[in-house]
Amino acid sequence: MYTCSLERMTDKIETFSRFGDAGHGGITRYTLSEADIAARNEFVKRMEKIKAIIEYDDVANVYATIQGTDPDAKRIVMGSHTDSVKNGGNYDGILGVMSAMEVLETVVEKDIPHTHPLTAMIWTNEEGSLYPPAMMVSGIVCYDYLPESIKEKFKYENMLSSVSVLDPCDTFKDALERSGFKGDAKNRLNPDSYESMFEIHIEQGPILEDAGKNIGIVDCVLGMFNYRLRFYGQTVHAGTFPMNKRQDALFAASQAICHLHKEIDALGYPELVYTTGEIVCHPNVHTCVPDYVDFCIDVRHESAQVLDKVLSIVKGCAEKEWAGCNCEVEKMWNRDTVYWDKTLFTYAKEAAEEVDSSHMVVHSGAGHDAQFAAYMIPTTMLFVQSKDGLSHCEPEYSTPEQCTEGATVLLNAVLKADKS
Ligand SMILES: [Zn+2]
Repeated sequence: MYTCSLERMTDKIETFSRFGDAGHGGITRYTLSEADIAARNEFVKRMEKIKAIIEYDDVANVYATIQGTDPDAKRIVMGSHTDSVKNGGNYDGILGVMSAMEVLETVVEKDIPHTHPLTAMIWTNEEGSLYPPAMMVSGIVCYDYLPESIKEKFKYENMLSSVSVLDPCDTFKDALERSGFKGDAKNRLNPDSYESMFEIHIEQGPILEDAGKNIGIVDCVLGMFNYRLRFYGQTVHAGTFPMNKRQDALFAASQAICHLHKEIDALGYPELVYTTGEIVCHPNVHTCVPDYVDFCIDVRHESAQVLDKVLSIVKGCAEKEWAGCNCEVEKMWNRDTVYWDKTLFTYAKEAAEEVDSSHMVVHSGAGHDAQFAAYMIPTTMLFVQSKDGLSHCEPEYSTPEQCTEGATVLLNAVLKADKS
């Protein structure tokens, strides 16, 4: 069993927290922005210091590789993302990059014998905060291996022409060109050169903390669906039209949301999560009764049968009239539960046991680049406890000890994969 360095990990956490520092405890580090490029340069600097070979692919993913004893063996890669959401925290994504660096640094410092080349990787544009969608670049790189229903969302040309949410004249392609990190497509993560992938990430939820565990051994990314419900009424004057004659689309939608909560909760699945996080109201004027409202519902659970039960409740909304308004239900997208590679999952679990870290098996409710990689090569994930379950916000926090423990479990899991 080998141990990573708390001191070196702490230094990395402090250093990387400065790139995109928003001045109140968190960061805004959009992909390929100045702050992101500074973080990437720091990664390259530290990896060159241990004599890793640095490569870039055509979508600005960065790979740092140290050789093993067998030059023909396939690589084992560990990676995550350096970009953040607006006013995000100092751990989402970057923890996986820092841990991968820490593993390589520990292997080099302690001269740990290993057969396979080991690679630390930065995925470009995981968040999609500036150039949507999220997980854009893993979608591009793993494109040929994605299920058909997901594939259509990640066509290369469409991704490159994704327009910045801040500047209508700027596209992802422009950002790639000016980044200085655009390399060769032949360097992309691929099943011929890479044997397996590990991603470590903060949990972004409260399950580990509530259970008093530091490390999560992740078994799957939950299946999910996203549907849109649309309500059609009639705009009339707010001051002149009697209540009993109105077709208020917002009132209709709010009744439907309450109905969905009541019916879905009655199914009684404690692990089921569902969210309405976005709503559109037209004309959205304070003197007008709304004639059109739509909202999304995002539903996640491991079991396809459970998701089907919820879906029939959602679809059932179209068969009713809501406050005199018609309702249409439209599928936006869905994905099946993605299970991690069983062997790698076992290595992660065994490593956690050997390291004597407090750990438990958990699901991932959020999507990650590893989930697309899993369609291409054997992949698994580890989680580190998130304080108060907070993420995608500035108070996001994991202790340096927890982060280092995560890196140590990762190191020992990777060494098991190397031996097999
Ligand atoms: Zn992330």
